[in-house]
Amino acid sequence: MFEVKDIKETALAENPVVERMSKYNHEQLLFCNDNATGLKAIIAVHNTTLGPALGGTRMWSYNNELEALNDVLRLSRGMTYKNSISGLNLGGGKAVIIGDARKQKSEALFRRFGKFVESLGGKYITAEDVGISPQDMTWVNMETNNVVGLPGKSGDPSPVTAYGCYMGMKAAAKIQYGSDSLEGKKVAVQGVGHVGEYLVKHLKDEGAQIFISDIHEETLKRVSSEYGATVVGLDDIYGIDMDIYAPCALGATVNDATLEQLNCAIIAGAANNQLADESVHGEIVKSKGMIYVPDFMLNAGGVINCYAEVKGLSAEWAMGKASEIYDRTLEIVNRSNSEGIPTYKIANKIAEERIESIGKVKLPL
Ligand code: NAD
Repeated sequence: MFEVKDIKETALAENPVVERMSKYNHEQLLFCNDNATGLKAIIAVHNTTLGPALGGTRMWSYNNELEALNDVLRLSRGMTYKNSISGLNLGGGKAVIIGDARKQKSEALFRRFGKFVESLGGKYITAEDVGISPQDMTWVNMETNNVVGLPGKSGDPSPVTAYGCYMGMKAAAKIQYGSDSLEGKKVAVQGVGHVGEYLVKHLKDEGAQIFISDIHEETLKRVSSEYGATVVGLDDIYGIDMDIYAPCALGATVNDATLEQLNCAIIAGAANNQLADESVHGEIVKSKGMIYVPDFMLNAGGVINCYAEVKGLSAEWAMGKASEIYDRTLEIVNRSNSEGIPTYKIANKIAEERIESIGKVKLPL
């Protein structure tokens, strides 16, 4: 339904904006400019079949507008799939603010951005993403109620994200080893930031052997001593003797080079877009007998937490919903095995089928 041809690198003249939208099947793009505050932003609403489009706002120093456009198109489409497969009544959207998050933030800029969000009349609900703090969101909230992740509300989504990842990892272990116990399993967690550290805690509680890497020496030292994890080098992590690789830092770490070294049974982590090229690396992973747990399904705890805030549901509800990732992982991996299709394709199919099916419910009476 949302087949995407790779048009990332093509010039705008070759693939103008609406053509790009059509390739990704986006509903709406809102380009925002305000010279007085310096705001330059793009809000992308990918699909609202299931409900208002929810997805964070990212502030980033893009090299050019094309980079920002492609990022917002790709990220908003990803939110449609993530929200759909998680059973949430939310569509997919995302926003990017073009600028340096360390230098260009101001109350006025975020309030102006809030006015643009408000102009969409509830079709898009925003939240924090890379480069955005809870304080920034309180400014956005002065101009619109279509914001989640505010201080004092649903709070840091990372514990819910980590819990969902842990549940999915256990389900994958059940299929790969016949038991979902992670006791004694060698798990390599790449990046022990917000999500990574919570994941390490779950693993420690279950008696896994934990290996960690991070670019921050201080973080590494602290997490290593607190949870008894073994520190490994940034590039060494792919080649170590491990059962489970849990990428919790960057995207695209499952690629041609790392797949020559990776010798694990399961790939399950919180990072977005772990497969450098889905169609290539999803197939290689499957052919090697590894289970790749699709990232957008596995790391949905964060958006589940946001949904709880939108609907006024409790933190307990969010954790319960995140625990459903266990059964969803079983379903995807079992289908992947029985149909001989990579897990990412099964996950995409499930997300698309729900949109198609609920789309029928929403036809006008
Ligand atoms: P974070 O910034 O708190 O943590 C990322 C950690 O990775 C940092 O400690 C950083 O130093 C480390 N890192 C960066 N480059 C690295 C490298 N090359 N090797 C090893 N470590 C490196 O971010 P987070 O909130 O923990 O999110 C982690 C990942 O999960 C991100 O990809 C994020 O997009 C994704 N994610 C997070 C959530 C959430 O709820 N926070 C939800 C969904 C997805």
